[in-house]
Amino acid sequence: MSALSALELKRLTKIAEKARDNAYCPYSSHPVGVALVSASGKVYPGANVEIAHYKGVCAEASAISAMATAGEREISAIVVIGPAMEYLCTPCGDCRQRLREFAGKGLRIYSMWKDGRLGKVHTLEDLLPWSFGPENLAEVGSGPQKNKKKRK
Ligand SMILES: [Zn+2]
Repeated sequence: MSALSALELKRLTKIAEKARDNAYCPYSSHPVGVALVSASGKVYPGANVEIAHYKGVCAEASAISAMATAGEREISAIVVIGPAMEYLCTPCGDCRQRLREFAGKGLRIYSMWKDGRLGKVHTLEDLLPWSFGPENLAEVGSGPQKNKKKRK
């Protein structure tokens, strides 16, 4: 996917902010919201959801699960907004791997400041260089390719 236009980024940031407003994070007090754009152009919001034993679900994982549940398998772009102006909220290691699983060609990750301004745009390769993915397993014949729904 080519880079988002300023107008599209603004629209997606609003969606991510709304999702962040719904984050359930009484333990970390670290609300995060995302707006994930799939290959079809549909937008999947996500927020982090924590539980008492601390194994919560990140905002990115929430949105990726919603996308996969809807039958889609490719992410075109994702906008991530955290709660701070002191540091940018980029996807955690686990979410980087989740993004890797469904990354469309040229996936860009937009990390926004708390106030909605653009902080930095990353490619997946920036965040997860020399990554391991489905193709690596497919090479030895044990990959998930046969179970993977055909990309639309
Ligand atoms: Zn995460």
